[in-house]
Amino acid sequence: MTRSLLALLLLSCTFLAAQQTMPTITTVPAAAQASDHFDVKAATDAWMAEIPAASKARSDAYFEGGYWLVLWDFLYGAVISVLLLQLCWSAGMRDLAERITRFRWLQTFLYLVFYILAITVLGFPLAVYEGYFREHQYGLATQTFGPWMGDQAKALLVNLLIGGVLGLMLFAIVRRLKRTWWIWGAVATFFLQVVLIVLGPVFLQPIFNKITRLDDPKVTQPILRLAHANGIPAKDVYETDASRQTTRMSANVSGFAGTMRITMNDNLLKRGSPEEILSVMGHEMGHYVLNHIYKEVLYILVVIVSAFALLRWSIGWSLERWGAKWRIRDIGDPAIVPLVVLLGTLMAFVLTPIDNTQTRTQEIEADMYGLNASRQPDGFAQAAIHLGEYRKMKPGPVEEWIFFDHPSGYNRIYSAMRWKAENLNTPGAN
Ligand SMILES: [Zn+2]
Repeated sequence: MTRSLLALLLLSCTFLAAQQTMPTITTVPAAAQASDHFDVKAATDAWMAEIPAASKARSDAYFEGGYWLVLWDFLYGAVISVLLLQLCWSAGMRDLAERITRFRWLQTFLYLVFYILAITVLGFPLAVYEGYFREHQYGLATQTFGPWMGDQAKALLVNLLIGGVLGLMLFAIVRRLKRTWWIWGAVATFFLQVVLIVLGPVFLQPIFNKITRLDDPKVTQPILRLAHANGIPAKDVYETDASRQTTRMSANVSGFAGTMRITMNDNLLKRGSPEEILSVMGHEMGHYVLNHIYKEVLYILVVIVSAFALLRWSIGWSLERWGAKWRIRDIGDPAIVPLVVLLGTLMAFVLTPIDNTQTRTQEIEADMYGLNASRQPDGFAQAAIHLGEYRKMKPGPVEEWIFFDHPSGYNRIYSAMRWKAENLNTPGAN
């Protein structure tokens, strides 16, 4: 559960990609240059042809491997949950917590700490493959093992804090409200989620990366002008040192009122052409202006309430069958946590295509907004190619529907070229 919470936290859309593979294009390919015989399909294909075959094969392999990881992550986590229940390790951790203290809330907290440590240790082999070795294999990671482990330790502390707060809250509700716990549990989880979304960029991001204010007016002026023209009250542009961990480029516009800020990572700043940077910032501003974060929060509310309704039914059903065997006393017993996590991750797994489609739909909207705002279709095509370093450029439609949380690179270039074609005779268009 804490893992999916953290995943939701990282709502800000990660744009682009790896250093060595994809070309950094500074000239527009011939068929994509403005002309009186400009053809959208031919222009799109010309951009696609800029990608070397070896780079395409590499990013296809990386991304398609990711499809299987969705399944392996789910199965591996499910096996851990089933083991903790079947071997009564979960009940054992509860017994241990009860021997240490007689305060019930402290017993619950201790259990949660034991549980999070246990799943972190048991989950480590897959986590280290997925987060370290596989990223290095595809040239996307920049960290050596020591600093990577340092980040994992920090993430563990954050998980303990968030998991501890969420767990204590939910058990307090379940123990007091025997019949309506699922409604109030959903409400509490939703509010914690919203707090994390609001505070995440301001308080959690600096735990892992250094954020500095950019002072180069050559970079910041065009971005701030674009922001102000679109009604975004930003005064500064910030930079994160994402190159500490990865070669991926990214940017976001986050927060509101006093926490409102535009941030881009140093990979985008180093590798992106000015047109590319502007097109990416236009996209990010689209998320902000189109209120995507609030729409996402509404979606999350629907998902959380449905999940709790399903939990109420499926927990009762499971306890009736296996409760005695797993030595779980009742729904207020902390030993039940692996069962709740198992049921929750099963729902999340089934929901994968819906989640992706919800996100992808907003990304398409932000793409359209960004093209209109920045008027940089060629910069956007460059960005889509950089992005293709860790995403498959041209999937089939079903594949895109199930697995893509952003439009495919091909579709993004096609949109950019279509915009270009329709604006060829408009003053100010490229
Ligand atoms: Zn986005």
